[in-house]
Formats: sequence, C-alpha cells, structure tokens
Amino acid sequence: MSKRALITGITGQDGSYLAEHLLSQGYQVWGLNRGQANPRKDRVSRLIPDLQFVHGDLMDQASLVAAVDLVQPDEVYNLGAISFVPMSWQQAELVTEVNGTGVLRMLEAIRMVSGLSGSSARADRPGQIRFYQASSSEMFGKVVESPQNERTSFHPRSPYGVAKTYGHYITQNYRESFGMYGVSGILFNHESPRRGAEFVTRKISLAVAQIKLGLQDKLMLGNLDAVRDWGFAGDYVRAMHLMLQQDEPGDYVIGTGQMHSVREAARIAFECVGLDWEEHVVVDPALVRPAEVETLCADHGNASERLGWEPSVEFPELMRMMVESDLRQAGREREYGELLSAASW
Ligand code: NDP
Ligand code: GDP
Repeated sequence: MSKRALITGITGQDGSYLAEHLLSQGYQVWGLNRGQANPRKDRVSRLIPDLQFVHGDLMDQASLVAAVDLVQPDEVYNLGAISFVPMSWQQAELVTEVNGTGVLRMLEAIRMVSGLSGSSARADRPGQIRFYQASSSEMFGKVVESPQNERTSFHPRSPYGVAKTYGHYITQNYRESFGMYGVSGILFNHESPRRGAEFVTRKISLAVAQIKLGLQDKLMLGNLDAVRDWGFAGDYVRAMHLMLQQDEPGDYVIGTGQMHSVREAARIAFECVGLDWEEHVVVDPALVRPAEVETLCADHGNASERLGWEPSVEFPELMRMMVESDLRQAGREREYGELLSAASW
C-alpha cells in the first residue's frame, strides 16, 4: 500500500519540491492549506495536479488535529513558517507563534491522533507517524565554529532564529518524552526558481532579468559581505525524505560546505547575462539588519555518511538556473503583458 504524507507549507518553495519528490516515490500527498482563496494554492495545484489538500493552520490546534486525523499520514513534514528573517523583527510575536508554538501544536496533534501518552511509547511502534521539522541554520546565528555541524551550539540572531530553535528543541523533547519518531533537518539556505522574491538570491535573479530586458536599471541590496552556504532546494527535499526513512530518528545538518558572499552572488548573476554588477547594484543601508548572521557554512558529513546524501548543484549553476528562469518569465511577460505574470512557476 502506498505511504501517505502530510506537508505543511505546501504553497512554499520546499513544499512544492517535496510534494513532487514524494509523488515520484509512490506516496499519496496532502498539503495543509490555510485561509480562503489563497492564490498560492491555485499555483501549486496547477503545477502538481495529483496533490490533495486539507484545511488547517499552524495557529489553530483543532485544525491540525482534524487534518492529521483525516489524512492518517505515515509521515508529516512541517515546512510551514513565516520564513523571511526581517519580518520576524516586525512581527516577532506572530513569527514565534507560527514558527515556534506551531511546531508544538503539530506535535500535539500527532500525539493525540496516534494515542501516544507516556514515555513508555516506542519510536519503532508499527504504524507510528513520523515527523520532520524544518529547522534552520539561522539557529547557529553568531557562529562559534566553522563549518557548523549537529554538535555546534546555537546563538540565534533574530526572532525567526529563536523561534526555530524552540521548534528544534521541542521536537527533540517529544522524541525523548513520548518516544515519538521526530527528526529535525538543520537546513542551510536553499534556493531555486521557486524561491520567494524577497530572498536575496531571487531578488538578484529577478532584477538581473529585468535589467537585461531594459525594464529596470538599479538593484538595491543591503549587506554585500554576508556569506551563506547556498544549495538547490530540489536536492534538500531528498534529504528530508531520507531522514524519515532511517531506523532511528536523529537530526541532520544539510548544506553544501561552500561559502559565497552576497557580492559574489550578484557578480555571478550579472555575468550570466554579460553585465557588470557594479554598474547596477546600489547599497541601501535601510536593508541592513538589526542583528546580522555574518557567515554560515555546513559540515554535512553526518548526512553523507548516514543518509548517503550529497548536493548535486554548485552555486554558479544554481544562480544561472534562477537567472535563466526569470529571464524566460520576464520575456514572456513583456511579450504578453500582465496576464501571464500570475503564472510564474
Ligand atoms: P516559504 O516561505 O516558501 O513557504 C512557507 C510556507 O509556510 C508557505 O506555504 C506558507 O503558506 C506557510 N505558512 C505560513 N504561515 C502558516 C501558518 N500559520 N500555518 C500553516 N502554514 C503557514 O518557505 P520555504 O519553502 O523556503 O521553507 C520551508 C521551511 O524550511 C520553512 O519552515 C523555513 O523556515 C525553513 N527553512 C528554509 C530555508 C531555506 O533556505 N529555504 C533554510 C532553513 C529552513 P501560505 O501560502 O498560506 O502563506
Ligand atoms: P536568510 O539567510 O534566511 O536571511 O536569507 P536572505 O536571502 O533573506 O538573506 C541572506 C543574506 O543576504 C543576509 O545576510 C542578508 O542580510 C543579506 N542581504 C543583503 N542584501 C539583501 C537584500 O536586499 N535582501 C535580502 N533578503 N537579503 C540581503
């Protein structure tokens, strides 16, 4: 019988790639969809017609219990979050509720539906629901060692990072308290043509396409010296799935081990279309964050060894993929006008 998966955050970048991956593995997949008339739901259902939906919100405990009860999943992937770090200073309480307490609510929903009540429960119980939590390299924040692995201590630098750290620890705690099969993937930044336009790589690739087509001239950026370990989202969802197939639950760092600055990202992207980044990029101090995560770099040795996972896309190829996708889209929009703009991925 095919396995059943429930994904929160289905309308986001990772949700769509993970749904495609699980469907290709023969799963039945449900996405948790919130609100009414969410245009991002229409977008993902057009892209993935075999996807099914169930209503629910990480802010609403009862809706999560109902969703888990209805789907009866083998695996739950909790990708839902307010994922843009700067928003977490503007709406710290909301971000804490969704990204932190939301994890607790989903764990409780699983615990209630599967009847796990005491520490005698076993992680290898047949029919147990397995849980994946989308933890983040933002938990490392002000890093104490480089590269970072599963034993590196956390020092989050934003309300987003703090909330993710709570989600990480509560997942570990439910594993220890109730014998739940819960894992956290500590994922470093991962990008794709489906990345939200507010994140720096996609902001750059979108601007490069517009500038190349003469529709824009300048690109405003913040801290050009920030360094990230950027990988391809399609690779990272494979790791999420692999984590839930292991005999024992555990936490895994996922990244490429390669570091690049925002400055380099801009240079590479502009070079893809034969332009000089320095002629177009303008630093806007308003985009510099109140507390910055200066540098991140993953040591994914544990995932290599235990999951057999490796990234397949190098950073320059990733930037090229994103620039080419945005160029095609901008070109179509220019040709056919506004009508097509809603069809972007
Ligand atoms: P996106 O921002 O693309 O997607 C976020 C998703 O969360 C959307 O589907 C959104 O749905 C959903 N969501 C927001 N609020 C709620 C809520 N109250 N209840 C249920 N769902 C909600 O994120 P990504 O796909 O890039 O990331 C997936 C996860 O991985 C996130 O948890 C993120 O924090 C984490 N992560 C991401 C990294 C990255 O580099 N991409 C790195 C490390 C961790 P809606 O359409 O309804 O708003
Ligand atoms: P994050 O690592 O999850 O916060 O992902 P982002 O893509 O939002 O940011 C990556 C890094 O790029 C951070 O250190 C930002 O400070 C830096 N950065 C510099 N300019 C910008 C910008 O204009 N937008 C964003 N989003 N980030 C920027």
